[in-house]
Amino acid sequence: MKPSISCKFNRFDLLLSLFVVLAAAALALFFLSHAGGEAGEVSIRDGDNAPYSLTLDAPRRVQLADGHITLVIERGGVYVEYADCPTQDCVRTGKITRTGESIVCLPNRVVVTLEGAGEFDAVTG
Ligand SMILES: [Zn+2]
Repeated sequence: MKPSISCKFNRFDLLLSLFVVLAAAALALFFLSHAGGEAGEVSIRDGDNAPYSLTLDAPRRVQLADGHITLVIERGGVYVEYADCPTQDCVRTGKITRTGESIVCLPNRVVVTLEGAGEFDAVTG
């Protein structure tokens, strides 16, 4: 048993696993940020109000249709948490995460559509 060799090997092993963990973390971070950039903002059409857009970067709850709908905005997606419409289609739609997907509540005349931030890459690249 040569402690010096096994010690060296262990240190190398530790360094290697540390590198793997770091690389995995960096990769996960890259994919997470990339997934977040897939749909950059949400366009909201609420009855007769002028349509407006909100960024997905700032998680928040939004009351729509005079409080008849509670929309939850998260990084990477949006969903209707509560709606008082009889059909509940908007609630059952669940979370939308991709550009072009939308949640529609016909009774409350609300349309929520995800829009991409892909233009960002086109501009900077
Ligand atoms: Zn609805």
